[in-house]
Amino acid sequence: MMESYDTLWDNCLTIIKKNVNEKSFNTWFKPIKPIRHENSVLTIQVPNKFFYDWIEEHYLNILKKSIYQVLGPSGQLEYKIVVDTPTKVHEPKPFDRKSIKNPFVIPGLKKSKIPSNLNPKYTFKNYVEGDCNRLGKSAGDAISKKPGGTAFNPLVIYGGVGLGKTHLAHAIGNSIKEYDPEHNVLYLTTESFTTQIVNAIKNNTMDDLLNYFGLIDTLIVDDIQFLAGREKTQDIFFNIFNQLQQTNKQIILTSDKPPKDLEGVKERLINRFKWGLTADVKPPDFETRLAILEEKIGEDFAKIPKKVTEYICFNIKSNIRELEGVLISLMAHASLNDKEIDLELAKEVIQKFITQENKTISVQNIAKLVADHFEVPMEKLNSKTRKRNVVIARQLSMFLAKNYTKSSLKTIGHNFGGKDHSTVIYSIKTVQNLIDTDSLFKDTVAELEKKVEMSLLH
Ligand code: ADP
Ligand code: MG
Repeated sequence: MMESYDTLWDNCLTIIKKNVNEKSFNTWFKPIKPIRHENSVLTIQVPNKFFYDWIEEHYLNILKKSIYQVLGPSGQLEYKIVVDTPTKVHEPKPFDRKSIKNPFVIPGLKKSKIPSNLNPKYTFKNYVEGDCNRLGKSAGDAISKKPGGTAFNPLVIYGGVGLGKTHLAHAIGNSIKEYDPEHNVLYLTTESFTTQIVNAIKNNTMDDLLNYFGLIDTLIVDDIQFLAGREKTQDIFFNIFNQLQQTNKQIILTSDKPPKDLEGVKERLINRFKWGLTADVKPPDFETRLAILEEKIGEDFAKIPKKVTEYICFNIKSNIRELEGVLISLMAHASLNDKEIDLELAKEVIQKFITQENKTISVQNIAKLVADHFEVPMEKLNSKTRKRNVVIARQLSMFLAKNYTKSSLKTIGHNFGGKDHSTVIYSIKTVQNLIDTDSLFKDTVAELEKKVEMSLLH
């Protein structure tokens, strides 16, 4: 007697459920529908190609096992993919753009077009070209005219802080839109990308998210160095990357280091990053710095004595954001105090800028930064769990709290579920030891320190 495919699949699910955790089960197995059982072949329907890849990669063994137990040795599993890439057609269903929930917009806003998140202020027009950025700028020009159709895919722009990576990435996106307003560009920071993925897993909306990525023609992800250590995000990114690449969609990434030096990022992902063009942006030379200042202040530039702008450009070399900052505060000082902008004032302002008083950060904010980085819930840091990543996150939070706050060891301990001060000392020592012996860990700490420092600047 033939059992119905529903029952058969239910029996498989019972076995699978015992072998995977609840979240994975809900994310990857709940959305599957059995649709046929013929000649020992059970056919299941998965929402998209990505699901199929993921399941095959992560759950093949348990699937085989359950099929074997339920259907016997001759049992086989076949997939039917609902929404597929155009190249492989399994009775594809056309995209219904309206039915796909867009996780990146607040509900109630316009839904028909994908909002790009592009900043209209960052364009090629106001991007000063110099030797320092020529490669990236030219590649960007070429991409704008033919996104996905050049050898520069992905385009990876890398370089130090404040050297114009984000500006350039937006400029390319804006320029693509200018040539073709229908082209769907999506700009994401690595942070928001990660958040979307974490939420999709939590809320069981992975297929919505993935379908959404299927609508994008050009994906820009900023600051991919923050992918470090986030394995789940990396896995999903890897699959999204492949899907986009296979369908000739454009990918643009920025990073603070060249792909090969991205520690904590899986090799297979790094290899993908190296497929296209890797272009660095370097600190601009003196002439370019002057030109950038001129671009930034427009007509007021002429009113500022040459000596002053040159003085600024001589002194601030390695960060364009700082260059702008000095100038803006110089102009503010001058107008507030009704002073002339002269060399004297410029020196004063630069001095202040460099020794600017540090703002403070709370122990809780540090804990939040670290918890987010390790993708553990904040509350876990206060719990008694001995899970390794939680323990490390807690110890690291204490270590950073000691270095970046004025809190006493007792107060710090209090912030993590009432640990006493000797536990805090022990944690700090442990972290220091790890820094000294494990270079990957050292980089993680450096990155977190950078994040703490960034939050001190805002
Ligand atoms: P990064 O992403 O590399 O940290 P940003 O793109 O945020 O740097 O740039 C910092 C600031 O410097 C921005 O205000 C940007 O407009 C400006 N900037 C950087 N490079 C240039 C350039 N070549 N021409 C004009 N402005 C620039
Ligand atoms: Mg940036």
